[in-house]
Amino acid sequence: MAPNADDRTTGDIAASIPVAPTRRLVIVGGGFAGLYLAKKLGSANLQIVLLDRNNFHTFQPLLYQVATAMLEPESVANAFRNIFQGQKNFHFRMVDVLRIDPGSKGVVTSAGRLGYDYLVIATGAATNFFGMQDMAKHAFVMKEISQSIAIRQQIFRNLEKALMTAEPTERERLMNIVIVGGGPTGIELAGAIGELKKFILPEDYPELDFRGMRITLVEATDRLLNGMSERASRMAHEALAAFDVTFRFNTRITGYDGQTATTAGGEALPTELLIWVAGVSGAPPLGLDRARIAAGGRITVDCFNLVPEYENIFAIGDVAAMITPTTPHGHPMLAPVAIQQAENLARNLAALNLDPAVTLTPFGYKNHGLMATIGRNRAIVERKRLSFGGLPAWLAWLFVHLMSIVGFRNKLVALTNWAWNYLSYDRGMRLIISFSRNHQAHTGNTKTRTATDAPSQNAIPLTPAPPPHRLGSHRFPPGDRSTQKNFPNP
Ligand SMILES: Cc1cc2nc3c(=O)[nH]c(=O)nc-3n(C[C@H](O)[C@H](O)[C@H](O)COP(=O)(O)OP(=O)(O)OC[C@H]3O[C@@H](n4cnc5c(N)ncnc54)[C@H](O)[C@@H]3O)c2cc1C
Repeated sequence: MAPNADDRTTGDIAASIPVAPTRRLVIVGGGFAGLYLAKKLGSANLQIVLLDRNNFHTFQPLLYQVATAMLEPESVANAFRNIFQGQKNFHFRMVDVLRIDPGSKGVVTSAGRLGYDYLVIATGAATNFFGMQDMAKHAFVMKEISQSIAIRQQIFRNLEKALMTAEPTERERLMNIVIVGGGPTGIELAGAIGELKKFILPEDYPELDFRGMRITLVEATDRLLNGMSERASRMAHEALAAFDVTFRFNTRITGYDGQTATTAGGEALPTELLIWVAGVSGAPPLGLDRARIAAGGRITVDCFNLVPEYENIFAIGDVAAMITPTTPHGHPMLAPVAIQQAENLARNLAALNLDPAVTLTPFGYKNHGLMATIGRNRAIVERKRLSFGGLPAWLAWLFVHLMSIVGFRNKLVALTNWAWNYLSYDRGMRLIISFSRNHQAHTGNTKTRTATDAPSQNAIPLTPAPPPHRLGSHRFPPGDRSTQKNFPNP
């Protein structure tokens, strides 16, 4: 008999948390939403328990820089225990939340059950492969640090192999990189790989001919950056073309076996590195009524981020779909939305905790604009009617991202790395690291676990796949971030 969620728990999380005279707020997920909520409630008369499967917060907008050796992994992550040092009402537990049990006001975790007075679900999003099992198995994705490291390792491992193959078609397959998704993440990644190909790789691998390396960006619609203006699309197109990126517009990838990607039109794209940044869906924990899950796997919430028909359960950030006449698919899945919802909910929860009859403040999203960058000195910024590119946009991009990185040390490390890369045309260490528990792994006696074995790489969406005509597209309305990129809120 298959074990149910409760059977997989070990430990006693409830006993590990001190008994407090105050009500307990449990936050599931320490992304932008969960982190800002816990911070904003630092002085509230609440016991806050943050649960996350990682012991650190990840700054996802810069994952592509880790994947391309521009930044060290540590500069885009910060440990919760470091961030919350000194916050007296705060407790962190590193667990997987397996399901919610609203009936008993508890969450079931990998370390047992924990009761709550208020529950906030902030579990973010998962990669959506639109039901393509082979894609889920073979494609590389970029939601977590381990996945970015896996991409970085695959780039360099493939080149090491390419050096030693006498077979031209195999060499081509090892050197080619296919990126699926022409939104901000796809174009930033393509630009960073293009820069790597132009400035770094020929120096590192003088015996390889990089004219044979193809970076292909596949986009299901007829242009890049579909969520931005035509001008932004043109600028992105020109900047990427300068890095010899090749494009396939109006093209859907329909299969990938780890060696060759196939398009709906029957074209074969040989590659051992396909990076899928073409869609995401909400990642809610189990246990909520299916009727509460909207299209795109997100939890429907009212204008206060309250999950209707549940007492004291809220959802914020990517996992929440606040459906209104002006946002029929919910707000875009962006960091500023997550942060602003966290801030509004913090005010409401603090007030509710003092007076259950208080009138809550509805959420209103302040859109500060969209931006994306492509290589050095080039970026695109669109803010209300203002739209600009080139060096000023790039400097604006640098400033906003630097300010948004969590923690002074991380800001400093990122700035130092960027300055070094800029001045030297170099990148961080291009190490290919095999993780092993002892030296026997290297002798082949023990299975060596590499970053490419990272377990959570290929999450399958909880919701049924949308119609096939959307495959690889950027029209995933509930908030495909590939279509829109916003200013992270400093
Ligand atoms: C590659 C990439 C680039 C991006 N670029 C931008 C950008 O430039 N600008 C922008 O505004 N936005 C960008 N985004 C989107 C932005 O990062 C998200 O909108 C934002 O992170 C959402 O915050 P969140 O707190 O809702 O979820 P997340 O940040 O995804 O956090 C969810 C947290 O929940 C934890 N979790 C999930 N499930 C469980 C579970 N069952 N048990 C325990 N823990 C769990 C996870 O470990 C994670 O820490 C990008 C996203 C990606 C992936």
